[in-house]
Amino acid sequence: MTEGKIIVIVAPSGTGKSTLIKRLKSEYPQILESVSYTTRDAREGEEDGVHYNFVSVEKFIDMRDKSGFLEWAEVHGNYYGTGKAFVQSRLSEGSYLLFDLDVQGTDSFKSFFEEKAKVIFIAPPSVEVLESRLKGRGTETQESLRLRLENAKMELKRKDDYDFCVVNDDLERAYSDLKNVIEGILK
Ligand code: ADP
Ligand code: 5GP
Repeated sequence: MTEGKIIVIVAPSGTGKSTLIKRLKSEYPQILESVSYTTRDAREGEEDGVHYNFVSVEKFIDMRDKSGFLEWAEVHGNYYGTGKAFVQSRLSEGSYLLFDLDVQGTDSFKSFFEEKAKVIFIAPPSVEVLESRLKGRGTETQESLRLRLENAKMELKRKDDYDFCVVNDDLERAYSDLKNVIEGILK
């Protein structure tokens, strides 16, 4: 089931990963993004089945127990998982698949797919900038913000452990770096 290409994007929450992925998807329609399952509440503007499959904890656990996930993890107090069915069918068709995962999911992918999974870490210019982006987005409660920042410090220690690292300081420059990496992977 590994004929296609697997691109994983990993970044601490608030870095700008969703912003960059949105641009990538519009410029590279041949890259399909896997829609994860999550137990967190939808943010304003997020659509079920588009940004995530939003499910209850019971449904998530039932899927997990029925081996419905390729990987799953508890991140910032909620469950997130990659559905197996979509990945298996699309990879066998030779598609380019994009995954937005935390470090735990990324590590699971690397041990499962090894060199077939190309991982791009997106780093913020600093933890201070990350904090101001997260606050500016206005989506997090005080507790969620605290958890995300605490986790970000741990995740940032992993920034040089993967195949590529792009720093999202200036958005245009970061997008151009990311595009260069993607072009290299798609070749
Ligand atoms: P993530 O998906 O990594 O959690 P988002 O894409 O939601 O992050 O970005 C977090 C916030 O930072 C959003 O309000 C977004 O508009 C903003 N943002 C993203 N990239 C940049 C950048 N390079 N410079 C300034 N603000 C940015
Ligand atoms: P958010 O709540 O900000 O959308 O995502 C929180 C974190 O969960 C991000 O680091 C994101 O990459 C990660 N995430 C999203 N989907 C999955 C998934 O299917 N598996 C894993 N392991 N992490 C995910």
